[in-house]
Amino acid sequence: MAEKIKVLFLFLLFPFVYSAGQEADNELVNPKDLIPDIIIDLKYASSDHKFRNLPEGDLALPKFYTSNECLVLSIAAKMLKTAQDSLRNIREFNGKSYPKGIGLKIWDGYRPRSVQYLFWDIYPNATYIANPENGSKHNRGGAVDLTLVDLDTGIELRMPTAFDDFSEKASHSYNSLPSDILINRALLKSVMSQVAGMLVYDAEWWHYEVPGAGNYPLLDFQMK
Ligand SMILES: [Zn+2]
Repeated sequence: MAEKIKVLFLFLLFPFVYSAGQEADNELVNPKDLIPDIIIDLKYASSDHKFRNLPEGDLALPKFYTSNECLVLSIAAKMLKTAQDSLRNIREFNGKSYPKGIGLKIWDGYRPRSVQYLFWDIYPNATYIANPENGSKHNRGGAVDLTLVDLDTGIELRMPTAFDDFSEKASHSYNSLPSDILINRALLKSVMSQVAGMLVYDAEWWHYEVPGAGNYPLLDFQMK
């Protein structure tokens, strides 16, 4: 009994100790700090990216980000590390050899909410672009868009579509594809969901998010 009272007293006195873990997960961090061999290629920091297969065709985009610095919630960075630590051990997969293993290439992580408004102006289709009024999981740092690469050469593994191809081919339920592509997509899905613990988004094979991502705060600042 005395022990219980002491614990309760400590909790009342130092509530921050018990919430410290949660607060740390709220922080935005650069996944490269935790995973030095992860590849960061933020497509919205480049002026050479398109939204593909919109009703009117492909649309070239301006540069939306001020730098290629990737940020994600610290809980997301930990999950990405778990995924990359597992992928790095692969030496043979799908009929190919990977002398340094397989790794992740990130195309987008945290995205300022003001950019979400610009995306919505371009293509207000909630399957592919979250309505900025509610905000995207990306605006909270809780979502990542990514693919797999050969860690030896940096070459991307073959996947169903390019990033931001807004067609049915981007869906996990689209299976009219060569078997090596289906197998690569399945590897990304199993590592990100079953090994790392992220959630799958059916309409976009490249998008993964942390459970409860919608509960983190909406943010709007540019990367340095
Ligand atoms: Zn996404």
